[in-house]
Amino acid sequence: MNNLEHFNADEFNNTDSAQTSTTQMIGHFINGKVVSKTSKRQPVYNPATGEVSKFVEIADQQTVNEAIQAAERAFPAWRDTPVIKRARVMFKFKQLLEENAGKICELIGQEHGKISHDAQGELQRGIENVEYACGAPELLKGEYSKNVGPDIDSWSEFQPLGVVAGITPFNFPAMVALWMFPMALVCGNCFVLKPSEKAPSVVLFLAELLKQAGLPDGVFNVVNGDKDAVDALLHHAKIQAVSFVGSTPIAEYIYRTATSTGKRCQALGGAKNHAIIMPDADIDNVVTSLLGAAFGSSGERCMALSVAVAVGDEVADVVITKLKQEMQKLKFGYYADSNNDFGPLITQMHKDKVQAYIQSAEQQGAKIVVDGRDAKPVGYEHGFFVGPTLIDQISAEMTSYQQEIFGPVLQVMRVDTMQEAMQLINDHEYGNGTCIYTRDGEAARYFSNNIQVGMVGINVPLPVPVAYHSFGGWKRSLFGDLYAYGPDGVRFYTRRKTITQRWPSAQIREAKQFAMPTLN
Ligand code: NAD
Repeated sequence: MNNLEHFNADEFNNTDSAQTSTTQMIGHFINGKVVSKTSKRQPVYNPATGEVSKFVEIADQQTVNEAIQAAERAFPAWRDTPVIKRARVMFKFKQLLEENAGKICELIGQEHGKISHDAQGELQRGIENVEYACGAPELLKGEYSKNVGPDIDSWSEFQPLGVVAGITPFNFPAMVALWMFPMALVCGNCFVLKPSEKAPSVVLFLAELLKQAGLPDGVFNVVNGDKDAVDALLHHAKIQAVSFVGSTPIAEYIYRTATSTGKRCQALGGAKNHAIIMPDADIDNVVTSLLGAAFGSSGERCMALSVAVAVGDEVADVVITKLKQEMQKLKFGYYADSNNDFGPLITQMHKDKVQAYIQSAEQQGAKIVVDGRDAKPVGYEHGFFVGPTLIDQISAEMTSYQQEIFGPVLQVMRVDTMQEAMQLINDHEYGNGTCIYTRDGEAARYFSNNIQVGMVGINVPLPVPVAYHSFGGWKRSLFGDLYAYGPDGVRFYTRRKTITQRWPSAQIREAKQFAMPTLN
């Protein structure tokens, strides 16, 4: 029996008898079991068709408390499990993720609408975080110094925090969760995850795979829900740390609330990522790479390149002409059709918002070069689609420039110098990712050295750090001191303890000493 056969979707998708017999109800995963707790529920859409495909339970405070209690009970034994055994669970989990990749990408496609090969890329990036977490025995070795004083040795160890929480967005239903819990778990913590209510099924399946991999019950729990569930986590005294990824206003709220109740917090927010196109850039390559970076995943990526800053009108005109030609060839539609380049937006409300941003740009004086507002793929006329959209003559005062659109919309700004382009980026409230296209090493070096952004690409449009580095933006794209995953993830999910030890001989009696001990 392969693992796909073992997985029974109905185990976590309980049938809701109040709805039609085929409508699934998605519950929670608490203490190693799928549970159904509350009567409050919310629809989950198939964004390609616009239809309600499932319902998800919305946890109340009691359900959140039960998940936290399960995690608390599991913590002492999990903390004391040898790190190599914790890592072995993660090794097995990685294997199961690979064996079940098809099912995971299917769930992503059904609820997010992301096309299959993009979902595979998301999953692969997530698996790389699992691979890094498998190195926990090395990562947690600590630091040791012999003879820091006469017969005194000192070492630092990295102990788990206890019960920690993660709150994730809809746009990477698997990957962002995998940024968080693999590292938290191998470090010896227990975890409560609150995924986005818009794409909730994937992490319940991941919970099932963790159980199959040998993770003890209670170590990993999932509560589905909305703001109430988040608030219950933020205010619970037993939650030691909160990782959040989502929009900036919510990130700021999470960070302020969590830290005001004494919790460690990292809260990653929204973005406005600019690409500077220098006159010496290879324009054909720029156009090809901009297409994927701006319209891939329908622009619903925090690292999407949404603003192209052309240095010189000549550059802008050529880029726009070529983009216009290439954009006509883009295909968007159902996730399972491998000919498609991207899928729908997540909800009708989000589609309305993206359309409103395009309209506001037009009203404020920008020029719509390619308009995707009325795009409707054949057979999916009721889906939440916006076609690829190109807008020229954007200026810094426009709402569509100041705010994150999070849709398949590329805006072009025209400047005269690289300094002017860099000033725009440095003045923007977000500082997640950026890229410069150039063949000039000196310009690229100056750019990477002086730009006020956390993740920088040089001829690389989506400079998402690999799993053994860490991910995070500057300014209002991240609240907290440590980045997500990689080496910062190890530090975030552990607490340093420094032990200084001596074993004095019974014959030696020490003199009283009131001065600060030194080696002088
Ligand atoms: P969101 O902020 O609406 O939701 C994120 C999470 O917060 C969800 O689990 C949601 O249930 C919860 N939430 C929503 N409203 C809340 C409230 N009022 N109080 C408490 N919790 C609340 O984000 P989203 O729409 O799911 O995701 C898109 C956003 O995430 C974009 O802004 C994108 O840039 C950002 N994002 C950032 C990164 C990054 O690494 N910086 C990565 C992915 C997505």
